[in-house]
Amino acid sequence: MHDPASTQLSLVRQLKFCAGHRLYRHESKCAFFHGHNYRVDIEVVAAGGGSEVDSVGRIVDFSLIKQRMLAWLDAHWDHAFLIFEADTNALAAIRMVEPTKYFVMPYNPTAENMARYLLEVVAPGVLSDLGVLARRVAVWETDESCAVATLTGDVGGMRQPLASAVLIDHREGEQRP
Ligand SMILES: [Zn+2]
Repeated sequence: MHDPASTQLSLVRQLKFCAGHRLYRHESKCAFFHGHNYRVDIEVVAAGGGSEVDSVGRIVDFSLIKQRMLAWLDAHWDHAFLIFEADTNALAAIRMVEPTKYFVMPYNPTAENMARYLLEVVAPGVLSDLGVLARRVAVWETDESCAVATLTGDVGGMRQPLASAVLIDHREGEQRP
């Protein structure tokens, strides 16, 4: 017996931000502090799956995905350094400069692990009340290379607490990074 054909609708929103990082214990130049213009593609499906859409015909309005995800990225990763919690040397260095903004990751900040963090931790935290689920996140580190994290199977029990950037900035007045 074959299942009848069915349609799965999803939408993809592109997001951009800049961040610095280094790869702890990398054999080569990625062990140095450096940065990227990152691009994120986030693919979203209706929480109920299938081809469920609202009365207008949308899974969700594109602008809401942008608003929620970009607000989080701006606050926590944009113009910040992403540092692996085990990389105590990099943490000590980034805490010496002021102003400073950094985000401690539970694993090395590779494109793979950033995609995984956005899929498993950030997207569920910021999108859940929209009735949608992020199914796939691609993190583009350069125009040529991206890492992809895809949700498979039961997602129950995957929720982790959402961390925050550490921001130390004693400058006066209005600031834009
Ligand atoms: Zn890099």
